[in-house]
Amino acid sequence: MAFGRSSRADREGASLVLQTKAPETNEQSTPFASEESFIFCENLVKIYKVADLEVVALQGLDLLIQRGELMGIIGNSGSGKSTLLNILGGLDRPSAGRVTVGGRDLLKLSERNLVKYKREIVGFVWQQTARNMLPYLTAIENVELPMVLAGRFGKKEREWARELLDVVGLTPRMKHKLSELSGGEQQRVAIAIGLANHPPLLLADEPTGSVDTRTAATIFDMFRHIRDTYGTTVIVVTHDPKVMSKVDRVVAIRDGKTSTETIRRVAINMSDFSAGNIVLGETHDEFVVLDGAGRLQIPRDYLDKLSIKKKVRLDLEDDQIIIRAIPSDEADQPSAEEKEASRKRWGLL
Ligand code: ADP
Ligand code: MG
Repeated sequence: MAFGRSSRADREGASLVLQTKAPETNEQSTPFASEESFIFCENLVKIYKVADLEVVALQGLDLLIQRGELMGIIGNSGSGKSTLLNILGGLDRPSAGRVTVGGRDLLKLSERNLVKYKREIVGFVWQQTARNMLPYLTAIENVELPMVLAGRFGKKEREWARELLDVVGLTPRMKHKLSELSGGEQQRVAIAIGLANHPPLLLADEPTGSVDTRTAATIFDMFRHIRDTYGTTVIVVTHDPKVMSKVDRVVAIRDGKTSTETIRRVAINMSDFSAGNIVLGETHDEFVVLDGAGRLQIPRDYLDKLSIKKKVRLDLEDDQIIIRAIPSDEADQPSAEEKEASRKRWGLL
């Protein structure tokens, strides 16, 4: 579920307002509709144990993704992006929570089915190209390899490999060894390799991390083309803040939880309508994600602006929930509940 993000601090004193309906965007927010989504993550937790230390990489992450979505995931380094992708790719298992992809419960897959899942359902594109392919084989041989390993290789597969290299614009370079290709070209081969076994899901972990801006834009255009042509669901982790115009939706991860999501909408710009032109413009709607327990992460800049620290006052007014900052001395006082709990503890009630 997601709430529209708006601030009325200027008009109503120090308060944030949550509205149940974001005008005109109801349909757009249906990615959060049901468990029947292609990808369903609920309360995902991943804890890594290193010696005596526990690192919480994901702490109750919720995420729904529809089939055929082209999605961006952004977030600071260490926020849990790769952990999420590795779990979706069947490379890592969550410590707790639920995750289904195309109706498969990834926590319940046997080792044998997990191998099949990794081979047939997901394609992976890494930032480090070396992880995707073999440098001494040619581009086309690298794309053919996953099909050979999957135990089927004939005329159809050979043609498919050529088609994929064409999709990534590398037909003229297909007979070149990977070591003879530039970083950007290698990354494009990696995308073709990721698609070799016709996976319905393509996961890319910072695929544009080490290429220049122009190549990065081309790679995002390729992801869109792939989604449009083959219906592939594509999830791309990126650092690039400009990615919004290239994908349908961007989900931000903060501290191992989904915090906000931004949905791209194409709208008609009516201001130019009178001049006889219809201009298609892009607008971006940003939502704050609400988890299953009703918790949401209020953006840090909002909290800072209203000097909100530990407590707020919450009021329900018609179709709005208003979060008000309270004076700092009041915020330092125990709440009525805390006072009652304290009295109970000391036997005063
Ligand atoms: P991101 O991809 O957003 O940079 P990661 O998912 O790689 O973040 O990491 C999230 C957190 O989990 C970090 O604190 C990281 O140090 C930790 N982490 C990731 N992988 C491991 C691992 N294999 N062992 C221990 N800690 C890990
Ligand atoms: Mg990472």
